[in-house]
Amino acid sequence: MNTFKARNIARIASFITILIALIVLMGWLCNIPGFETGSPGIFSFKFNTALCFLFFGISLFLLDKQVIKKHERIIAYLLISLVLLIAGLTLSEYIFNWEAGIDQLFMKTTSFTNGNIHSGRMQFSTSIFFIILSLIFLLLPRRRFHLLIHFILLTGIIFLSSNFIIHLALIHYSNINLFISTALNTTLLFLILYMGTFFGHSLSYLRFSFEKKIAGYFGLVLLVLVIVFVAISKNNDRSKNITNGMEHSNEVILKSQKILNLAQDIETGTRGFVISGKEIFLDTYKKAIPAIQQSVYQLGKLTANDSFSRPWADSLISLVASNIEIRRQIIELRKTKGFDSFNHLFETAIGQIRMDQLREAVVNIEKEENKILSDLKSEHEISIRDTSRIIFLFQFIIIVLLVIAFLVIYKNTRARNKVKEEVKKNNLFLQTILENIPNMLFVKTGDDLRFTNFNKAAEKLMGLSRIELIGKNDYDLFPKEQADYFILRDKEVLSQDGVVDFPEEKITTKNGERWLHTQKIPVMGEDGNPLYLLGISEDITEKKIANDELQKATERIFDLYNNAPCGYHSIDKNSFFVEINDTELNWLGYQRHEIVGKVKFADLITPESQEKFHRQFHEFKMLGILKDTEFEMIRKDGTVFPVMINADAIYDQKGNYLSSRSTIFDYTDRKILDDKIKQFNLELEERVKEKTAELQASNIELERFAYIASHDLQEPLRMVSSFLHLLEKKLEGNLDETDKRYIDFAVNGAERMKKLIQDLLEYSRLGNAKETYAGVDCNIIMDNVRSILELSILEANATLDVQQLPVIKAVAPQITQLFQNLVGNALKYRNSMPPAIEVGCTGREDVWEFYVKDKGMGIEPKFFEKIFVIFQRLHSRTEYAGTGIGLSVCKKIVQRHGGQIWVKSEAGKGSTFYFTIPKNIS
Ligand code: ADP
Repeated sequence: MNTFKARNIARIASFITILIALIVLMGWLCNIPGFETGSPGIFSFKFNTALCFLFFGISLFLLDKQVIKKHERIIAYLLISLVLLIAGLTLSEYIFNWEAGIDQLFMKTTSFTNGNIHSGRMQFSTSIFFIILSLIFLLLPRRRFHLLIHFILLTGIIFLSSNFIIHLALIHYSNINLFISTALNTTLLFLILYMGTFFGHSLSYLRFSFEKKIAGYFGLVLLVLVIVFVAISKNNDRSKNITNGMEHSNEVILKSQKILNLAQDIETGTRGFVISGKEIFLDTYKKAIPAIQQSVYQLGKLTANDSFSRPWADSLISLVASNIEIRRQIIELRKTKGFDSFNHLFETAIGQIRMDQLREAVVNIEKEENKILSDLKSEHEISIRDTSRIIFLFQFIIIVLLVIAFLVIYKNTRARNKVKEEVKKNNLFLQTILENIPNMLFVKTGDDLRFTNFNKAAEKLMGLSRIELIGKNDYDLFPKEQADYFILRDKEVLSQDGVVDFPEEKITTKNGERWLHTQKIPVMGEDGNPLYLLGISEDITEKKIANDELQKATERIFDLYNNAPCGYHSIDKNSFFVEINDTELNWLGYQRHEIVGKVKFADLITPESQEKFHRQFHEFKMLGILKDTEFEMIRKDGTVFPVMINADAIYDQKGNYLSSRSTIFDYTDRKILDDKIKQFNLELEERVKEKTAELQASNIELERFAYIASHDLQEPLRMVSSFLHLLEKKLEGNLDETDKRYIDFAVNGAERMKKLIQDLLEYSRLGNAKETYAGVDCNIIMDNVRSILELSILEANATLDVQQLPVIKAVAPQITQLFQNLVGNALKYRNSMPPAIEVGCTGREDVWEFYVKDKGMGIEPKFFEKIFVIFQRLHSRTEYAGTGIGLSVCKKIVQRHGGQIWVKSEAGKGSTFYFTIPKNIS
């Protein structure tokens, strides 16, 4: 029954009890006839009984809660104690037969007493029921009594309900007292109270197994049977009493009739003797006298306890006595005085009168006894009817109970069978799982630790079949040392409760040594003794080897970590040290335990560094990285040393900062070195500046010198050249061939010198001329170049293919010179084929990239740099004329425009000269 229903039953029970008790009490107090019964019944509730019911109704209401307030508990226990007092005193009155004064203490019950000597005293059985219920209520808070209370309440309910049913069955309410003399209405109210407590909150948690319930149920059926048996036997007693009563009445009638007959015999005998005087008539008299005396005695005994017939019997006995006396006197008179002396007696007819009186007494006795007989007869009929009613009613109840039991058992058995099937299936399922799990499973007996079960994995691991394993113990399977160890551990496991874990156990199997991780579980029997030991082992051999290696590797790494030439540490989110390596500890001069968990990083740096640290820490937490940051750390001895720190931040899954890992370099030596390098660099820079200035000055000087020299040399050279021509003209015809050749050499030399000077002048002019940058259309420039070089192009039978070129910001004559030199070289350094020259431009992001491409003789890569140096030539003058200045002029022009020049070439296949001119020249 669930708590909700249980609480309702208790509530309803308390309400009904309080209501009926109040009605009854009102009936008593206001003297309202009918109300004091509380219900249509025969007997009134006694005032004390109603009062006790009221108290119990209130107590049940107050105590049947999950949470009982203190004052409610106090009130309830006070009321229960009062009930215990009233019922206890009443019981003591019954037992010790005294007056405790409790019966009419609260109410003088004069109005409805019915002449009962115990008016106001509650029934014996009622007081017992109240005492039992009080004790139950007082013991309810103690759980260990709950089973007993449960049993008592259940028995009480069965007892009360049986009593109630029997009373109901016997409509005439016969005299059967079934154990208790409690009235129907009291029984009902007790039944309600007992049921309310039984289904109340305090006991609702109790749960019983099906077997216990069925056993209890049949116990109750047995109790009902006992009650029925007692009821029937009591009714039989009643019937027997009635039959005895009837026999008694019949005997009384017979005895009195016999007495009457004997009295008549006496009278007849006496009369015959008186009339005839013959002694023979006295024989009857003499025989009848002892017989009548005996009958009178017997009648006296029979009616001794018979209040109805006793008066009549007494009068009959005395009549018989006086009759006998009269007869004796008559006989005496006849013997002494003769027949005549009887005239007077006949006149008085005293004998006749006595006989009539005697007859009347006998008739009365018969009448009384017949009346009793007819009462007993009807009571006998009722008794027989009651018996058959009880039998029928309980037969019916028992049949109903048995049918219920049958249905419940049938239903439960079916459910159980279903569960059994399920269990079987589940077992099979589990068995399959256990059989096939990759871990070894084994079962040992709880007493002698012999193996009783293994799974497939176990067979595989042990290298033995199940048949070879089962029945063996550890000593049969393992070396003694191992077996001793296992047995010791197993015993420990069996002496405790729960799973015991053995992370590493070595066993020697047929397949060699294996390492196991085993969990052992004791399986206890209901008596608390170990039945089995279940073991689950995982083969961790491979894992262990890997772990050992990992361990070694970790140790190695840890060693590296500790002995690294740099410091390592990690700090938690509150900046406390979590880990630190030996190197850093050595630097600082601390022991690990002095640092870890106790010191913050900021505690170990100088105030200036602290300021820096706090400034940067927030940013570090955000960015997660700190790079090459310098701090000054303080050693334990107070000395300070510079460090360089790199750190990584570690975050949790939500991105909250957790900790950081730092690498630290002792910066002392580096710093000294750095300072030195800085100093050195500064000095170097200074010297470079000086030298550059010197160089620039000498360059300018040189350029100026070259310019002046070449400029000034031109004039004398022109003179040499023109005077040579004049000399040649003047001596024309007088000169032999040798003279002519000499003059030619001199003219050639002067020409070459002129060219050299011109080129040199050109080159040095680039450093001196005033440059004006303007928009230059390179297409026009190329047209110029083409016309300048037209003769050479024709001569060489060359093609000059010029792509669309841009307009650039540049110094126009210089760009003309640039293209002229490059195209000129392409024409000059050709191979056997007529030169094919291509000029083009690609626009890059910031620059124009021009190229001049030929398919001439090409240049070896090792000369790519060299050719741009002034006077550097790859050919002799006899092979190719030239001064070695052309490309250096090109380089200078490009550099002055802020661009670059380079060559890509392959010997024999041709060259491409590239140069860039910035798109925006400032
Ligand atoms: P030169 O007056 O000798 O032409 P340059 O400075 O113009 O002087 O060239 C230097 C050298 O670079 C040349 O002697 C030549 O060997 C080489 N050279 C220049 N342009 C080319 C080219 N287009 N193909 C092959 N070699 C070249």
